[in-house]
Amino acid sequence: MNAMLQAALGQIKDSSVVLSDDYQDKKRFKKAIEAILTPEKIIKGKITIKAGSSGKRKTFQVFRIEHNDARGPFKGGIRFHPDVSEDEVRALSTLMSLKCAVAGIPYGGGKGGIIVDPSKLTREELKELSMEYAKFIAPYIGPWKDVPAPDVNTDGQIMSWMLEAYEKKIGMESPATFTGKPLELGGSLGRTEATGQGGVYVLDAYLKRNSKFQGPNSKITIAVQGFGNVGYYFATIASELGFKVVAVSDSSSGIYNPKGLDIKALGEFKDKGGSFKNYPLKSGTKLITNSELLELPVTFLVPAALENAITKDNMEKISAEVVLEMANGPTTTEADTYLFEKGIDVIPDILSNSGGVTVSYFEWVQNLNGYYWTKEKVNEELKNIITKAFMDIDKIKKEKRISYRRAANYLSLKRIIDAMMLRGRV
Ligand code: NAD
Repeated sequence: MNAMLQAALGQIKDSSVVLSDDYQDKKRFKKAIEAILTPEKIIKGKITIKAGSSGKRKTFQVFRIEHNDARGPFKGGIRFHPDVSEDEVRALSTLMSLKCAVAGIPYGGGKGGIIVDPSKLTREELKELSMEYAKFIAPYIGPWKDVPAPDVNTDGQIMSWMLEAYEKKIGMESPATFTGKPLELGGSLGRTEATGQGGVYVLDAYLKRNSKFQGPNSKITIAVQGFGNVGYYFATIASELGFKVVAVSDSSSGIYNPKGLDIKALGEFKDKGGSFKNYPLKSGTKLITNSELLELPVTFLVPAALENAITKDNMEKISAEVVLEMANGPTTTEADTYLFEKGIDVIPDILSNSGGVTVSYFEWVQNLNGYYWTKEKVNEELKNIITKAFMDIDKIKKEKRISYRRAANYLSLKRIIDAMMLRGRV
């Protein structure tokens, strides 16, 4: 079993200890937990494409794992990466069930993946692989069955190819089967920036609920690791609201200015394809390593790049007052326990980065209605949903004196188990 799956299942077992008090019928509760530790369906196989002009055939291992649909259709992205494995897809599908339940959106969890390095494929091959994959999973997906979306190395173009192949196969239009589509094919306004925007709403809700942080936004300092889709929009929106973003990084380097960075200029530099290690530094700004960024004495540390950023190797050096997890799985279990005991709040990924799947839900709603929202409406609804999710978890955290992560897992498991019990599945 890989480390990510072990951690996901460990979180469920850990929170089930707190949750068990809520259920009188312990046997039934145990059955529900056991069911959640295992996915409902594992779809896997090999697909072959004709490799472009050379005509050479290439075969790929593909997966779609449907974890739990007690609360609604399975929902989750499709990852194209050489490191994809059944365990990884299973872990991610499990986390999707928890994330959708935390956000309170009516979905279960699923995830898909192909073991492939897409940078080694031609565009024609990538298109064929995407279309063949959509045909392979076609019997299992649909607006009321399983709704895939982009993930690592997949995007709106790949969703468009998949939609086309799927609709041809079923013989009708079905835009609500995939989310993360371009606007022209029924995508939603606000989807691109949704994860970062949602994270800023969580930041705002956290500040409002914690009296020690009252005061102007400019007093709050933030360090963001990663400046891709999530980190860029998080940093940009936070700095537009007057928060002081003092450090950001990409894989090449971090950039630090204790007085605050010009995020717009950094964004323009990245748009031109620059690496931060070559950023033209102004006085007061300096290059730092990614490790140094994680150890800065800031109000909020925001890991928004990779998993396992905060581990037993650096946990003692974390000097931030709060960690707001925007990447998936940036804190290991050991480091999470250490930070909790030290009094550093860690706002967990399944809550902080749920803005992306929430706006995917809005895309699905708009597709099903055939009526499209303004960006203002998308952001207003996102703010309502994610703020409510934060408040629900904050209440449980304070009542039960547990960490935000445990509280989030407690709430999501409870919602899934209650749905399973109502359906008579256990
Ligand atoms: P991305 O590929 O757009 O950006 C990743 C960023 O991390 C880049 O700036 C890259 O340079 C940087 N990076 C890569 N390796 C690094 C390293 N070793 N040290 C420091 N920085 C490094 O990815 P993204 O879409 O922004 O996703 C970031 C994280 O957020 C991932 O964990 C992803 O699973 C999670 N997430 C993304 C979304 C979404 O909507 N995009 C939703 C939920 C969760």
